[in-house]
Formats: sequence, structure tokens, C-alpha cells
Amino acid sequence: MDSIKNIYKIGNGPSSSHTMGPQIAAQKFLDKNPNASRFYVELYGSLALTGKGHLTDYIIKKTLGENKTTVKFDIKTNYDYHPNGMKFFAYNDKNEKIDEWLVFSVGGGSLRELNEERSEGKANLYPHKTMDEILLFCEDEDITLLDYVKRYDDCTYYLNIVLDVMLEAIEKGLATSGTLPGSLRLARKAKDFYNKYKKVESFSNLMYASALAVAEENASGGLIVTSPTCGACGVVPSVIYPQIIMNHVSREKIINGLMIAGLFGNIIKYNGSISGAEVGCQGEIGSASSMAAALSAYLLGGNNRQIEYAAEIALEHHLGLTCDPIDGLVQIPCIERNAIAASMAFDSAKYACLTDGSHRISFDYIVGVMKETGKDLSDKYKETSEGGLAKIIKC
Ligand code: SF4
Repeated sequence: MDSIKNIYKIGNGPSSSHTMGPQIAAQKFLDKNPNASRFYVELYGSLALTGKGHLTDYIIKKTLGENKTTVKFDIKTNYDYHPNGMKFFAYNDKNEKIDEWLVFSVGGGSLRELNEERSEGKANLYPHKTMDEILLFCEDEDITLLDYVKRYDDCTYYLNIVLDVMLEAIEKGLATSGTLPGSLRLARKAKDFYNKYKKVESFSNLMYASALAVAEENASGGLIVTSPTCGACGVVPSVIYPQIIMNHVSREKIINGLMIAGLFGNIIKYNGSISGAEVGCQGEIGSASSMAAALSAYLLGGNNRQIEYAAEIALEHHLGLTCDPIDGLVQIPCIERNAIAASMAFDSAKYACLTDGSHRISFDYIVGVMKETGKDLSDKYKETSEGGLAKIIKC
């Protein structure tokens, strides 16, 4: 597994796979072809079907040069390897092709080339590949999950930056009202929820407000942290913020919690998927809820087994969740879903911490089931906006 830094990528919304990944790919292609006179880019599969709402063409043109870039939405081409394919072409001033590159945005801002091993990160920092292996190792060594992450992948410095960006996104979102960009003309709700929290100081109210704040920032192209994706970026911060504001949990403890959450996100990315275009929303919101549950269980004082149980519960009860964003925008159902997934994460943590941590279905097993369920889901429910809510409500 790669560093958990790749679970927490800092960038602009609204989509890690449809905005961040294509932006990174376009920048790489530009760096390789700095003297190209013009660029032509084809988007395939889910990128072609929902790229407009996710601002894929906008970000590619912005990166390669508005005046010299043409983007085509090719809805007929789809690669079995991954539904988020794109091909870049560069031409010289004689209109001769000088380069081309087929690349895939596989979720969380990560890129892979055709048939490249997807699950193996470039830096294989961890000696274990599953949570079962990690838990056994921790038992043998008599260490906590936090000790484990610190031993192999201590990124305290980076996570301090991550936490700052998360908190800034919450505070900006809580202070902003108005309408989100896009055809839905959706009103921002976070500020209203925050005002209600101030009247009745409830943990849940602040959690909902924080989730909405970050998800609304994401939907308007603001700076956020993938955790593990843009569409689900409000879940983890929203279980953190009330702990800081209401329970005065220390910054150090929150950073520790982010390490543990990152480990769970990493295992899902490694053995399952965090791409809505590949496995539906269970891979995005379900994964975020699972990470937030692990973090919350750690803050509640849970031991290794209770933390693993919390993460398992939150993922299990998101199995089968479809991705059907209306008009391809990361707004409905995405924004509200962040708040509800945060609530489920916190409840999963409380539930797990009321037990001794023993349970029948392991986290690893649920990650496998999530992947299989994702394969069985119709493409209509995997970020194509061709079924479900997206079909019922057409803009
Ligand atoms: S429905 Fe879920 S997976 Fe799909 S765009 Fe929204 S948050 Fe992402």
C-alpha cells in the first residue's frame, strides 16, 4: 500500500476522479509537451457522460490552455479496464501529431495507464495488505493501530496541513450563503444549519452543518481534502469539527485519528475501490463513512478491535449505494449524503465501543463484498447519470 497521504489529497472540487485526476493528467501532458501548438482530448465512459457537470472539460482546458484545447465527449467508447478513460493528443505548428497518451482517472485523484496494476501504489510502504493481517501483527507486537501507522507511514507534518485545509473549508462553508453553481440552482444550507446549531448546541447539528459546509465548498470548486474523494469530502471533517469545538479534543489527537482513518481508506483503495464510476457511491460515501467511524471510535477510546468493528459497520450499511448525481453535478444526492454518512459513522463508532469488539463479519470481508457488489451494479448507477435519481429528475 501507498502512503495515506494519497488518501488525503488537497485540491479543488467538485470531483477527485472527474476534476482532480484530469487536471493532474493534463498538467503531466503539458509538462511533457510544453511546445505543442494545440491539444485535443477525448473523454470516455463516465468522464464523457458526467464530465460536463463535474467540470472535466473546464479544468482540462484551463490547464492546457483555453484557446488551444478541444475536448470531445465520446460517449460511445468505454474501456473495460476503468470507466474514466481519457486520451490526450498534442500537435505541432505543422499540425503533425507529436504525442498521445491514454490514461485513466481511477479515483481519489490517482492516475493509471491501460492495464497498469491498479492496487499497488508506487511506494509500497506497508508490509501488510489486509486489516486482518494488521490486527494480528498488532496483537503479536502489542501495539495499537496508531503505533502501526506511525511505524510505517508517519505523516504527522502533512496531516497538520490537511487538518488546516479541512477546518478552513468548514469555516468558509459555514459563513457562505447563496446558490451553488450549475443547472439545479441549489441553495447552500450549511449557514442555516449552523445558525440552528448556535441556538441549540447539539453535536449532531454541528456535524450536519460541517458536512454540508465542506460538501458545498466542494460543489462550488473550493479547496478541500479528498477523504477519500471529493464527492465524499465532508464526512471525515464533520466528525472532527464538533470534537474540537464542543469536546475540546486536542489537535494531536485529531491528527492521530486521521492516521487511523487513512489506514482504513487505504485498505479500501487497495483491496476494493474508492471510485464511484467503478463501484457506485458505496466506494465514495461508504468509504468516507467507514474512515470517519474508525476515527470516531479512536476518539471515543476504542481499542483496535472496536475501531475495526466501527469501520466495518459503517461500510457494511452503505453496501449497494448507487451513484446517480442529477445532471452530473456533485450536489444531489451527494451533499446531503455527506451529512447522513457522518451521522452513520458516529453511530457506528458508538455502537462498536459498546461491545468488546468481537464480531462475525470482518472489515476485510466487507471490502471484498463492496467490490463484488460494485461489479454487479448496472453502469446506470456508476457515475453515468443514466439511472436512479438522475433519470427521475432531468434538468
Ligand atoms: S452520488 Fe456519491 S459517488 Fe456519485 S458523485 Fe455523488 S458523492 Fe460521488
